[in-house]
Amino acid sequence: MTAVYQLDNPGGPLYPSVVQRRPLGRTDVRVALKYCGICHSDLVAASNALGEGLFPMVPGHEMVGEVIELGDAVSEFTLGDPVGIGCIADSCGDCGSCQVGDEHYCSQGFMLSFNSRDGQGNINYGGYSSDYVVDQHYLIPLPKDADLAPMAPLLCGGITVYNPLKRFEVGPGTVVCVLGMGGLGHLAVQFARAMGATVLVASRSEDKRDDALRLGAEAVVAPDSESFQQWSWQCDLILDTISNPHDLSTWLPLLKRNGKLCLVGVPTESLSLFPAALVFGDKCIAGSLIGGIAATREMVAFAHEHGVSAEIELIQPEGINDAWTRLEEGDVRYRFVIDLASLSD
Ligand SMILES: [Zn+2]
Ligand SMILES: [Zn+2]
Repeated sequence: MTAVYQLDNPGGPLYPSVVQRRPLGRTDVRVALKYCGICHSDLVAASNALGEGLFPMVPGHEMVGEVIELGDAVSEFTLGDPVGIGCIADSCGDCGSCQVGDEHYCSQGFMLSFNSRDGQGNINYGGYSSDYVVDQHYLIPLPKDADLAPMAPLLCGGITVYNPLKRFEVGPGTVVCVLGMGGLGHLAVQFARAMGATVLVASRSEDKRDDALRLGAEAVVAPDSESFQQWSWQCDLILDTISNPHDLSTWLPLLKRNGKLCLVGVPTESLSLFPAALVFGDKCIAGSLIGGIAATREMVAFAHEHGVSAEIELIQPEGINDAWTRLEEGDVRYRFVIDLASLSD
């Protein structure tokens, strides 16, 4: 049996329990999980705010661990390999999207690594657990010498910000403004800097200034400040990582003509926008959802090469409920990661 932390109703609480993983298929791998990040989407799914919650639910989709069992046709991995599992646990493998590595846009619908059903209609349980079973295609190889705990948040948070930075061709000569310095934002600052861009952090809270500068930001801009005036019409891209309702018009003046604001956070309420802030300047608003398996593998290698790493607060499983409350209040620097070792005892 697999030891888990689950919740039975929207809102929780989470408590220790056990579930049964599927039997190992020929190309499946069993991973002993060591760490799992806590992503804001865990809370969104568990609150049933989008009406898609499947209960009982075992959240968690930023898993890292070690390969402990192999199906007899597994070719890509061997026992003991450090690996990660992100949001994507299955897809058809055959449609146009899957063929080009965009499994998250599989025409059959991709299978989330938690809060989804498998082909037999059974609920898929996520990574707040002692082990996970997945087809080898959906595993992300991790560097053998890496400290695993800070890698966990890359599996969802990392790819969520890396993919749009690549899509909008961030690099030397571009100016990127990261909106929100949280779990996603603090990774976005590091990735954009590592890609060679000039990075700004837009934040209303003064207390994250030092961290933003330490992680590679050139400046922190707040509305109605001198720095805001200075950087107006300078940005090629605003990466909006805020997960609460907010007014987009506040930040659009930072974009240069034809600049893009890309949403990656998932607020559960509508955002406001004053249309002239978009029209004057030919500006665009875009969205971006995680990234495919090949892109996730590339992102992990890039992060390792450039020293991009999540800043984490490591907690024990007993602390998950408290951590959720604190995350809801934005009280974490910058990602909670659960140490799962005690679950296997
Ligand atoms: Zn996530
Ligand atoms: Zn497909």
